Amino acid sequence: MQHIRVRFAPSPTGFLHVGGLRTALYNFLFARKLGGKFILRIEDTDRARYVEGAVDNLIKTLHWAGLDYDEGPGVGGDFGPYIQSERTNIYKEHADHLIEMKSAYRCFCTAERLEQMRKEQQKNKLTPKYDRTCLRLSEDEVLLNLEQGRAFVIRMKVPDDSSIRFSDIIRGDVEFNSAQIDDQVLIKSDGYPTYHLANVVDDHLMKISHVIRGEEWLSSTPKHVLLYRFLGWELPQFAHLPLLLNPDRSKLSKRQGDVAVEDYRSKGYLKEALVNFVALLGWNPGDDREIFDLSGLTREFSLERVGKAGAIFNLEKLDWLNFQHLRLMPDVEVMGILKEELVKASFKVEKFTDEYLLRVIEAMRERVSFVRDFILKSPYFFEAPESYDQDVMKKRWKPTSAVCLRKLAEEFSKLSEPAKGDYENALHLAADSLGVTKGELIHPLRLAVSGVGEGPGVYDIVSILGKYETVRRINSAIERIK
Ligand code: GLU
Repeated sequence: MQHIRVRFAPSPTGFLHVGGLRTALYNFLFARKLGGKFILRIEDTDRARYVEGAVDNLIKTLHWAGLDYDEGPGVGGDFGPYIQSERTNIYKEHADHLIEMKSAYRCFCTAERLEQMRKEQQKNKLTPKYDRTCLRLSEDEVLLNLEQGRAFVIRMKVPDDSSIRFSDIIRGDVEFNSAQIDDQVLIKSDGYPTYHLANVVDDHLMKISHVIRGEEWLSSTPKHVLLYRFLGWELPQFAHLPLLLNPDRSKLSKRQGDVAVEDYRSKGYLKEALVNFVALLGWNPGDDREIFDLSGLTREFSLERVGKAGAIFNLEKLDWLNFQHLRLMPDVEVMGILKEELVKASFKVEKFTDEYLLRVIEAMRERVSFVRDFILKSPYFFEAPESYDQDVMKKRWKPTSAVCLRKLAEEFSKLSEPAKGDYENALHLAADSLGVTKGELIHPLRLAVSGVGEGPGVYDIVSILGKYETVRRINSAIERIK
C-alpha cells in the first residue's frame, strides 16, 4: 500500500490567509483519515517577500486551529530540514544535474536586456517569453562568462511543442502544450531556487504522495511535471482546490474584507467555527449536515467530495456557525475564553469567581453569537450601570417608582442567602403591601440593576448579582433618577 504523505507548504510572506488555512486543513484531514503523515514545509526561497516573524505566526495559527503536523519545523522528522532556505545545496545539486543532462542551461542575460526583449515582444504582440539567447551559447562562451564572474540564472529547457498531461483528483485530466510555457528560471542569480525547482525536489525527496494545493498553482503544474520527467521521478497525485470567491464571484481579496486567519481570530470567531467554515469551502459531506468538529471532519472528509467550482466566502454563514459552535461548547470552555475577553476589555477578572461567571454564561448562552457578546450584551454583570436607557425610562419609570423600589430594597434586605424564588416572593410581598401590580416593580427593578430594558429574566439577574449588589444598585438608581 502506498504511504500517504502530504504537505502544507506555505511561503512566509505575512499572515496565514484563510485560503491557506483551508489548504492546510484539507491536507491534515486527508492524512488523518488515511493514516498518513501531515508535513509542514516552509517555502522561504523568495527572499524579497520574506516577512520576519511570519513562520512563528504560521505555526502558532496552525496550532491554534488544531492542525498539528507530524513532521516540520520544531517537530523534526526523517526528511528535514523542512525549511527550504536550509536546503539550498540540495537544489543546486539538482540544477547542476539538469544542466549536465541538457534539460537546463545558464542564462547570463541582464535585467536590462530582458526588459528590452519584453518590450519588443509586447510591441509585436507576442507572448512574453525568454527568447533563448543563452541556450545558443557555446560551452566555451559559457566558461568564459563564468570565469569573468558574470551573474547568471539557471533556466529549464522546455521542449518545443510537446503535450504535457497529468491527472488531477479534483479536475480530472489536464493538458497543457509546452509552447505555452516559458523557460522557467530554476535558480535565481542570488543562488536561491525558485518555487518550482524547490517544490518539486522537496516533494520528491520528502516522498510526498499527494500534492493538495490551491487552484492558483494549477498553471505551474506542467512545469513541475516536466521537471519530474527530466529527473526521471514518479509524479505525485495532484489535487487542486477550487478558488475562494467573494459573494459577487470575484476572487477573494483583501480589498473586500479580511483574509487573514488572524483577523477572524481577533474578531472573536471560535476556531471550531472557522475550521468548520473553511472545511465547507469546496467540500461537502454529500448530505445537508453542516456542523462539524475536527474529528467529524476527519471521519467524513474525502477529496472525491471536493468540487471544481469556486467556493463562495459567505460571512453570514461563518457567523451562524460561530453561534452553533458556541452553543455546543461546554460552559467551562466558554468561561476560559470569557476570561480572556474580560482581560482584553480591561476588567479585573479576579473580581469574578468561576461560579459567578458560569451563572452569567448559563443565563446569557442562548442570546449570544460571540463570547465577547457576554460583555457587550450584558455589561451589567461586570459593572454597575453608569446610566439608564432613556427610552425604557420614559416608558417604565413612573413618579411612584422610587417609592416602590425603596420598599422592594427593604424587602430584599431582609432576605438571608436568598435563591431566585426568594427574590420573586419578596417582590410579590412588596407589590401587595404597596397595592401595585408586579409590573410596576419588575420594570423599574430591571432598569435599576441593568440600565436597560431587556435581557434574561430579572430574577435571574438579581440572583446572579446577589442581594448586596442588587440593593446597592436599587438605591443608586433612586438617587440618580430624579
Ligand atoms: N509555497 C507555495 C505557497 O505559498 C506552495 C504551493 C504548493 O503547495 O505547491 O502556497
